Amino acid sequence: MRFCVVGAGFSGAILARHLSEKGHKVLLLDERAHIAGNCHTERDTSTGVMVHRYGPHIFHTADKRAWDYVQRFGTFRPYINRVKAISGGHVYTLPVNLLTINQFFNTTLSPKEARAFIEQKSDKSITEAKNFEEQALSMIGPELYKAFFYGYTRKQWGFEPTNLPASILKRLPLRFNYDDNYFNHPYQGMPEEGYTAIIANILKSDNIEIRLETKFEDVSEEFRHVFYTGPIDRYFDFKLGRLGYRTLDFERIEEEGDYQGTAVINYCDQNIPFTRISEHKHFAPWEADQFTRTVAFKEYSRLAEPNDIPYYPIRLVNEKAMLDNYIALARQTPSVSFLGRLGTYRYLDMDVTISEALAVCDRLDQLLETDKAA
Ligand code: FAD
Ligand code: UDP
Repeated sequence: MRFCVVGAGFSGAILARHLSEKGHKVLLLDERAHIAGNCHTERDTSTGVMVHRYGPHIFHTADKRAWDYVQRFGTFRPYINRVKAISGGHVYTLPVNLLTINQFFNTTLSPKEARAFIEQKSDKSITEAKNFEEQALSMIGPELYKAFFYGYTRKQWGFEPTNLPASILKRLPLRFNYDDNYFNHPYQGMPEEGYTAIIANILKSDNIEIRLETKFEDVSEEFRHVFYTGPIDRYFDFKLGRLGYRTLDFERIEEEGDYQGTAVINYCDQNIPFTRISEHKHFAPWEADQFTRTVAFKEYSRLAEPNDIPYYPIRLVNEKAMLDNYIALARQTPSVSFLGRLGTYRYLDMDVTISEALAVCDRLDQLLETDKAA
């Protein structure tokens, strides 16, 4: 009997590849018409630009194993994410760094002076931040919080930051030098041919049958085991309720030349309805000059309705309780393993997705060995 892998994103592709390398036959399903899940990239038919269809994806990691893994399947070009942010009619750089601080407060502080200045603004009564707002106030003080985080976060998550976990903000660095690299990770890059080419290379095997535009729910074949990277609540037919997600709407802008002069500009004011604009040719600087026309996308975030694409798991108190119940159900379903961003209902970057999928492969090897011995 063959194995089934549901979902052709990084999680599913890595599992399918691993099983195929061990000599097993795999049916890989995806309900979409393409592989690569939310990392899917494609050439825009009108401009020729490589477009990240489900939002900008920058590869960054401190995990050598994940980095080495992706290098096997395509060339990565150096790419550093340098985000601009518009707040109150001015342009700044993010993450908050010395230039942001000096421009915002109209100062010329040195690193030491800036550290002391922000320290004096930070709320010292907060010893352990219980939510996003407390984390921000204790980290950067009220002015920078209001200018760069309050409005953006309201738009992105649809909740007051006091209702959101501190962990969302902990993702971002705060720097007292002029380094505006958005990430701290040592390995960062962009695949030269896009992410879909990487996933296609991962999936190159005679042992893998890829069936697109096919929902797992519509397949009646019996499998030795199922690796499910779709939404965990959907697998159980939402019988314990629907886990909350934010979804995104993209508004396309196309014009001659250069639209905004950089890949990503965040719009931090609450009265502007979108969160950011991404201009995709700047994600591939090595070829950007080739294109006479450009394409950019305004990103709007809202609560996902049942038929929307689930993007960001909300994970507030109610969702976490529901998730625990689904995890209990999953434990009673030994014929299925749940993994990936949707299968575990966690906001996972690509590198974490990859290292978790590789860890599942490691455990699987042990199980298959025990199976063989028995
Ligand atoms: P997915 O890529 O979501 O793949 C799951 C697949 O399963 C989908 O193709 C879906 O169609 C399919 N599926 C689901 N249910 C079924 C079913 N029942 N039957 C058939 N098919 C099914 N990470 C970074 O490292 N850097 C970034 O810059 C970055 N930017 C991001 C920006 C946005 C807007 C978002 C939302 C995410 C971003 N990420 C980024 C995270 C990245 O997208 C994920 O880490 C990655 O996509 C997770 O891969 P996955 O295989 O687990 O899930
Ligand atoms: N954030 C913000 N303003 C910004 C950028 C980020 O308020 O200009 C907040 C927002 O709540 C976001 C979180 O910081 O969800 C983490 O930012 P990141 O860039 O990692 O967001 P993601 O990659 O999840 O879209």
